[in-house]
Parts: sequence; structure tokens; C-alpha cells
Amino acid sequence: MKGRTCLIRNRLGLLFLLLISLAGTSHGQDILTPEERLWLDQQPVIRFAPAPNFPPVEFFNEDNEYQGITADFIKIIDQQLNLGQKLEIVQLKDWGEVMSEGRSRGIDMWGAAEKTVARSQYMQFTEPYIRLPAVIIVRQEFAGDGIEALVGKKVVGIENYASYEHLQENYPQLNALGVPDIEAGLRMVSYGAADAIVANNAAAIYYIEKNGLTNLKVIGESGFEWNLRFAVRDDWAPLLSIMQKSLDSITALQKRDIYRYWINLDSSDSWKFTKDYMLIAMAGALVVIVLVLFGWGWRKRAAVNMQRLTQRIEEQKKIEEELKNLATTDELTGTYNRRAILEIAQTDYQKCLDEGQPFSVLLIDIDHFKQVNDQYGHEVGDRVIRAIVNVCSDILKVKKIGHIGRIGGEEFVVLLPMIDQTEAHSVAEQLRQCVEKEPIQCIENTWYSATVSVGLASLEHSEKFDELLNRADMAMYQAKKSGRNRVAVSHELVAG
Ligand code: GH3
Ligand code: MG
Ligand code: MG
Repeated sequence: MKGRTCLIRNRLGLLFLLLISLAGTSHGQDILTPEERLWLDQQPVIRFAPAPNFPPVEFFNEDNEYQGITADFIKIIDQQLNLGQKLEIVQLKDWGEVMSEGRSRGIDMWGAAEKTVARSQYMQFTEPYIRLPAVIIVRQEFAGDGIEALVGKKVVGIENYASYEHLQENYPQLNALGVPDIEAGLRMVSYGAADAIVANNAAAIYYIEKNGLTNLKVIGESGFEWNLRFAVRDDWAPLLSIMQKSLDSITALQKRDIYRYWINLDSSDSWKFTKDYMLIAMAGALVVIVLVLFGWGWRKRAAVNMQRLTQRIEEQKKIEEELKNLATTDELTGTYNRRAILEIAQTDYQKCLDEGQPFSVLLIDIDHFKQVNDQYGHEVGDRVIRAIVNVCSDILKVKKIGHIGRIGGEEFVVLLPMIDQTEAHSVAEQLRQCVEKEPIQCIENTWYSATVSVGLASLEHSEKFDELLNRADMAMYQAKKSGRNRVAVSHELVAG
């Protein structure tokens, strides 16, 4: 077998998932029956071959680390079942090789596999753990909606993918064309070499961001949906039930966090390019304009003197700074976006950790926010979000502490470097009370008083930032459970 064995490396945002999964098994309760445990103990190795290039579902990055949604599932399963050295991640060339090694028993398990009759001859499948619709993506200027609008158009699909077969079988009137991978297909559409591509939404978002393809839009679903499952060799029946049990014990919250990390989808809409991507796209477009302008200027004034050149460099720096701000700012509230606040968190947190300084984090979620949207509409909802952020950031500014960022629809993180739990608690209380006291105008003569639930976690030992954030998240849920409009403090999780 030509494959190579890889380690699954920790990545940001995952450790806390493990913590939860460990908590579930740390009381000596094994989710497996004694027979299953015995079977597992007797296996020297379980060779697992992911699809090598199917981001964000699963893939190997430039450093050959196994990553993606399935990798995060595997990481939890690995810890939960205590697989240790048994689990061998095998990196193969492509999906074709993964399948043939499965057939010849060169490997024992796949992730992210669609169940088909042919594959069921030699593999058995768990229940699906990811459902991904295949969507239709076209250029912005394309007029028309849904698959019917594609009659006579050049539509690309990914060769060997079930979505492409579905397209060919069900829509013979389309001018379908197979391409080797989604990245190539998206570029073809973006550059005008094809009219549309049918691809899974998650991978499309991933590659659109990666390639900065700003001129694309989605016009609907294709009618095909991936139901991705783990598959194990069919002569290893116990492994199937072991995998299924392990999958079943992964909580909805853990799944939500994994999907949220890898698929930046808005919670309420089925599919759209997110605001973050739009910002990055705009920033990308501006960079191009700036580069073109500078290139042109340079050619025209080849003999520019030193002073003017220095001035130009200064200007460029300023523009770069503005572009950076654009890519790190949440469009709705003007605070840091999720990506930016989590980046700042890592740096600030590490600094406090290294220097033995305190660090606290608040997770804030607006209470009963759906009702605001339902009663007054989305625009008023947006206004409420902005008003709450303004209240909080004003307080932080006056106190000259911390940073606030929007990490979800109506969820915010406040980073409080150098602030211990007692002080952080009083900051959290102040934020909560000020939000409650701030009247927000909904419609004429109608004022709304919003409340927030706040989870607080402070650094207690050398844990990872993600663990700390997860504790704040759990505390926030505690605050919700105990009646909302309150601050709840997390205490360190005690292992065992
Ligand atoms: P809870 O007190 O349990 O938090 O109740 P909730 O109603 O706030 O429940 P939840 O947090 O699940 O709902 C959040 C809602 O926020 C769902 C979504 O429609 C809405 N939302 C998310 N992002 C935005 C946004 O940018 N603008 C507006 N107006 N609404 C948003
Ligand atoms: Mg929420
Ligand atoms: Mg809420």
C-alpha cells in the first residue's frame, strides 16, 4: 500500500470538544459492551483512510495533517473509545485509491462515505453524521432560479461524485461536463468557461474563500444531498456497532461547534455567502484595485523622487491597514468579527499564560432574541444587536479594558486579559445591568429593554483558550437555564 501514516494533530477549537466527550466517559462508564471492548482490545490496529481532498469535510493540509469535520469527529471518537495507538490514519492518493484499498482490505475504515450498493458489497455503514446539499452555483449576472434555468447551459459536476451521476441521470437536457475537482469547476464558472457548477455547499464555501472568487452566487439546491457516513469493513461487525455508539454519544452541541467551525453558515438561512466572506471578498477586490493603481502610477512616473516614494509607501500602509480592518470587522456591529476576536484571544491569552497573569472571558447571548425578530422584524433585531454591542463596548472603552467581538448571530465574546475572576464578575454584572437599563427604540413610541445572559470563565490552570471559552459557553447556558438576565461563573472542570 502506498499510503502514509499521519498523526491527527490538535487544532484550535477542538480540545474543548474532547473535554466534553471525556467528561462523558470519565466516571468509568464504558459506552461499549464487555464483548465490544474485548474485541477492540484484541485489535492491534485499525487503519482509517480519509478522503484526502474533500475539504472541509476531510482533507490533509500542507503539513499532511488530517483535518476537517470528519477529523474532528474522529478525534472525539478516538478519545472516547480510548483507541490510542490502535488508530492509524492512512493518507492515500485519492478517493479511488481509498475505495480500492477498502476492497482489498488494505485499510479497515473510511470516513465521509456515501452509502452505495456497490460499496455495500464489502463495507458496512454507520448512520449519516453529515448531510450536505449539493447546490447550484452560477455567476452573479446569471438570471434565473433553480435547476430549470440551466437547460442548454454548460453545467459542470465533479467526476466520480454521486452528485454528478445524479445530475446526468435526472437532467439529461443539461449540457453536463465532468471536471476532476470542485476547485477547477468553480474557477471555470467564475471565469466564464462554464455556466454553472453543482457542488456541495460546504466545499464550495471553502474554495470560494480560498480562491477569492467574488462573482458567484447560489440559485438553489440540485435535489441531491450527501448523507455521509463512516464505513467499516464488513467482516468486522463489532466495529460498526462500536462506531455507531460512539457517534451517537456525540452531543448536538459538539456537532454544532464542529460544523460552525468548518462551515461558516448563518443559523437562520439555508445557504448564503456570509458577511465575513463578503468583507474578505471586498477587501480582495480593493487590494486588486490598489495594486493596479500603484502599478500604473509606478510606470507613469518612473523617475519619481525619493520623497514622493516614501509618501506613497506611507499611503499604501494606511490603505493596507484599512483593508485589514475591513477583513476583521463585523459588518453589522463594527466590532471584531469571529475570526478576528478568536485570533486576538489566542495572542492575549498566551501572553497572560506565559507571564502568569489572570485572564477572563465572557460569553454573552441575548435573551429571547427570536421574539424580537418575530415581533418587530429582522431590521429591529439588527438594531437591538447594535445597541447592545455599543453599550458593552462603551463600558469597556471607559474602563480601558478588554475587547469585544461577535462570534455568532447574537452571541458575543468579551476578552478580559489581566483581569481576574472577581473583577471580571463585576464587569460582567455592569454590562448586564447597563444593557437591561438601555431603552432601545423598536418602532415609534415603542421601546424595548433587552437582557443578556453572561457566562464567565477565568484562567485557573494552564488550560487551552478553547477550553476556557467552552467553560464560559457552558456557564452561559447555565445562566439561561437558571432564568436568564444573569451572570453565571464557570468553575474549572475536575477530571475523573
Ligand atoms: P435564548 O434566550 O435561549 O438565547 O433565546 P433566543 O431566542 O435568543 O434563542 P437563540 O439564541 O437560539 O436565537 C437566536 C436568534 O437570533 C436566531 C436568529 O434568527 C437570530 N439572529 C441571528 N443572527 C441575527 C442577525 O444578524 N440579525 C437578526 N436580526 N437576527 C439574528
Ligand atoms: Mg444564541
Ligand atoms: Mg439568544
